[in-house]
Amino acid sequence: MQIVRGIEELKEARKTLEGSVGFVPTMGALHHGHLELIKRSKSENDYTIVSIFVNPTQFLPGEDLDSYPRREEADRKICEIAGVDILFMPDSADIYGEDEVTLKAPSYLGYILEGSRRPGHFDGVVRVVMKLFGLTRPDRAYFGKKDAQQLVILQKMVDDLFLPLQIVPVETVREDDGLALSSRNLYLTPQERQKALVISRSLKRASRLVMAGELRSETIKEMMYKMMEEIEVEYVEIVDRAFRPLDRVEIKNTIILVAARVGKTRLIDNIWL
Ligand code: AMP
Repeated sequence: MQIVRGIEELKEARKTLEGSVGFVPTMGALHHGHLELIKRSKSENDYTIVSIFVNPTQFLPGEDLDSYPRREEADRKICEIAGVDILFMPDSADIYGEDEVTLKAPSYLGYILEGSRRPGHFDGVVRVVMKLFGLTRPDRAYFGKKDAQQLVILQKMVDDLFLPLQIVPVETVREDDGLALSSRNLYLTPQERQKALVISRSLKRASRLVMAGELRSETIKEMMYKMMEEIEVEYVEIVDRAFRPLDRVEIKNTIILVAARVGKTRLIDNIWL
């Protein structure tokens, strides 16, 4: 595995790759969710590039940029064992310059739900991912369905800008008890972790309700809020694949999303129906 930090170094390394390239952008503190993306990329491409970059522009003032978990040594080993070809770990100063041409997230999709709680977050995401696409020039890029809104926005970016690559969505990887894997789970105390389980349980219950024929969004949301009374729910939303709110669940076109705070930790999860 080649470990690359500089921009020029990455360009050189990319030039040597002949064949298809899969790209997995991450912020590190790698877990089995990230590994699933890497595995998928390896199975579909000749080469796999992983980036680890805690992107400052997608954090709002007061968010956890400084305390975001950094596990460089462990991450490196994980990538090595997973068979990654190039691990790109740039410095912020090399990624961003002054008075740049900037891309913005779409004004609807980028500013609802996650975007309304974290205004500007998706601007930072599209900005960095576009730069990383420019550098890695992938044939396919892998993103988790756990970050559903991010995935849909990046798919739209690829479509709107006619980028010559494919976005590949990957199913959410969960612990045995249902908790969606997330680097931010490292912040949870054992008690908070236990409390956080109601998020995935409420989503599972919602999906069972739908399977039993209950399609009314209000009824499903009410049930979910009730189940999550013990934690601080920011929102429960039922939307279609373009993130338009739905009064009734449409099978194969629905995402149920939750954002909640457990202690000081903000968690998101969802289910695609
Ligand atoms: P992050 O390092 O949190 O920015 O995540 C990097 C990529 O991994 C994103 O595409 C995430 O959606 C994806 N990811 C994070 N958690 C999971 C998970 N539990 N299952 C699958 N993919 C995930």
